Amino acid sequence: MPGLAPGIFISASVFNNASNLRLSFVKRPGQFRLIKKTTKEDYDMARVALVTGGTRGIGAAISKSLKAAGYKVAASYAGNDAAAEKFKAETGIPVYKWDVSSFDACAAGVKQVEADIGPVDVLINNAGITKDGAFHKMTLDQWNAVINTNLGSLFNMTRQVIEGMRARKFGRVINISSINGQKGQFGQVNYSAAKAGDIGFTKALALENAKGGITVNAICPGYINTEMVQAVPKEVLEKSILPLIPVNRLGEPEEIARAVVFLAADEAGGITGSTMTVNGGQYMV
Ligand code: NDP
Repeated sequence: MPGLAPGIFISASVFNNASNLRLSFVKRPGQFRLIKKTTKEDYDMARVALVTGGTRGIGAAISKSLKAAGYKVAASYAGNDAAAEKFKAETGIPVYKWDVSSFDACAAGVKQVEADIGPVDVLINNAGITKDGAFHKMTLDQWNAVINTNLGSLFNMTRQVIEGMRARKFGRVINISSINGQKGQFGQVNYSAAKAGDIGFTKALALENAKGGITVNAICPGYINTEMVQAVPKEVLEKSILPLIPVNRLGEPEEIARAVVFLAADEAGGITGSTMTVNGGQYMV
């Protein structure tokens, strides 16, 4: 499987009208295995998952894995219509365009998703951006854009769904933070502050909702093989980044998706307020 690290799974899910069954598969080199059969009725009853920034990179892998695990999935994005349409055509997952840094846009967007596929049971706050620069040269715009998109979005999005989750006594909120929110990073005061804020948000919200069947967790990816990291020159990657990663490779988006599916499960109700690191051993906390 070129480009994939050993042990990475590809998952897929198809609905077979003839048999009225949804068939979920898992594939890895040399293997193609049916893992689950669900009826159309099961699908109609399935939990609804909303993935912000769910059309590209890590978010796209999360959307696909949740769908393969049997969720009804909606994916949001900011403005890359071409990527979103391609993702929709390939996966059949509906896509929605709004800016997660706007509270009002999130309110309207979530309302539309809920009208289309049902109340949100699982929210993945994944959308994020970087606008790097040394702090002594950082502009207010660089600061505000990164704080509002990576941290403000957690308020803007989660506030729309938390009351419904509390009323239904079930919910999963999973926030995609970053290794750089845990350890800091040169040139990323804005990003590190926002991602560290995501972890504080996770812990406080987990405490407030622990009795109500709602879990809130954060995942901190290390360097993941997405367009963002592929843009780094090969030489920089090989000389300066890979030597810092004990597993000696970038992470794959599917590895973050696997952690999300684990935390989203009904069976994961005892895991809340946690920060899961998926960084190839680069930073151990
Ligand atoms: P990508 O840049 O590949 O994808 C980002 C996604 O977020 C896109 O779908 C984008 O939409 C969407 N998005 C960006 N800004 C907004 C906004 N204002 N409103 C709505 N959607 C928005 O990012 P990655 O997949 O690399 O990263 C995903 C998350 O993981 C981010 O939170 C990132 O900080 C975090 N992370 C990534 C790491 C990595 O190595 N890649 C490492 C650690 C953390 P559109 O397609 O329209 O632009």
